[in-house]
Amino acid sequence: MMQKQFQISIVRIILLYWLLLSFMTIIDCDDNNNNNKKKDDKNILDKSDLKNLIQNIEFDEKFFRSILDKILIPRSVDSTGHETVRQYIKNTLRDLNSRWHVEEDVFRTRTPAGQLKFHNIIATYVPEFGCVKSKSSLKRTILACHYDSLKSTLVKGGSSSSSSSTNSQIEQQLQFIGATDAAVSCSLMLYLAHKMNDYLGKLWLNYSLSNRTVQLNTLQLIFFDGEEIIRSDPNIIRSKRYKSKFPQTDSLFGSKHLANKWEKISNELNEQQNHRFNTTTNDINNNNVTITKRSRHSTTTTTQNENPVMKNKKNSKITEVLIISPQDYHTIDDIKLFILFDLIGGSSSRFYNTNLNTSHYFQQLIQIEKSFVQFNNETKKTSKSMNKNLFQQNPAFMVSFVRDDHLPFIIRNVPVLHLIPHPFPRIWHSMDDNLDNLNFNSISRFVTIMQIFLLNYFGLV
Ligand SMILES: [Zn+2]
Repeated sequence: MMQKQFQISIVRIILLYWLLLSFMTIIDCDDNNNNNKKKDDKNILDKSDLKNLIQNIEFDEKFFRSILDKILIPRSVDSTGHETVRQYIKNTLRDLNSRWHVEEDVFRTRTPAGQLKFHNIIATYVPEFGCVKSKSSLKRTILACHYDSLKSTLVKGGSSSSSSSTNSQIEQQLQFIGATDAAVSCSLMLYLAHKMNDYLGKLWLNYSLSNRTVQLNTLQLIFFDGEEIIRSDPNIIRSKRYKSKFPQTDSLFGSKHLANKWEKISNELNEQQNHRFNTTTNDINNNNVTITKRSRHSTTTTTQNENPVMKNKKNSKITEVLIISPQDYHTIDDIKLFILFDLIGGSSSRFYNTNLNTSHYFQQLIQIEKSFVQFNNETKKTSKSMNKNLFQQNPAFMVSFVRDDHLPFIIRNVPVLHLIPHPFPRIWHSMDDNLDNLNFNSISRFVTIMQIFLLNYFGLV
């Protein structure tokens, strides 16, 4: 995690005001669909369903550690470890299933340390057949974290050497490896991708077999690059000037780039859609068209007799056939929910509801954890080190000024669930952020809750 500052400034007050206005707008826009939305999201699980899930989902710590082991190396931008971890993440996802479309978003940009090359990793679950009936364009639910680590030179006591492969063992111990920042988050995303793999297959099978039109919603993973500051002068990061000024331009490179890129794609597609709509309206007025196009850019527009999918249904007047192409999962508009993980895995982690328009999802996390604790109490599995809950009911809402990868998305009206503990782990940006200081009871509980949350969210329970 880049920087925490709780000092109130004029800029922040304006930002808060803006966020509250945005929230009010979102509430207003969604009001008409509120009942349907709750049904779609299966808002709250019933207690017996939850108990069933908790009984049947066992955290596989050995498997989780095997993933973490590969990521827990120094991996600052442009280092050997960075390249190694990037390849590991991509290969792991590709090996899972051919339905995971794995790609890199590569770009160069100016930074305070000069021109640098960054690589976001994006993995989207999209089946090969890619042709189903859909209410509208493909929606995505995103799990995100950052895979770069802070440069060791910027950590007190860290080594000035940046390459892990050529160092002696002692020098490697002086390298910052960012266990909570954010190796655990990357590991839990790969772990969840593995655990959700079969369920996602079932989800898409249900979509394809459905007799009625459905709203497609799939899982997408983003591993951001360049979240951490990369400024090369270690003295500047500790200065007051740095805290007040530089973080605005010296961090979040990957998320800023991707949100901007996807916004442009959305705008282009919307322009194309408007153009087509106008054309179609003219045709309808001239009685030339028998099939109405409902979904956005990727929907085929054909006359009734030419439609390749619905040609046997001669009486059909309206079809909605979505042919999924890469541009469908490279938009900012179709993100249904964006969940960002950061600083997961430390002791005494507490998470608060910091995003008003996703409060109902945060309430689900609280409910799942309550059932989890209750079940463990009944079966006497409770660990002494986890006598407090991760997800906090009070306060019901907390304003957060944490700069993180969700910001470029939240300012573009994407619904965000930002899961980062408050306060930060005490080991944050120190050489102690390593395997020895991770709390696996906390990790086990967090990952299990997220797995149950996703199964419920996608209607797979
Ligand atoms: Zn950090």
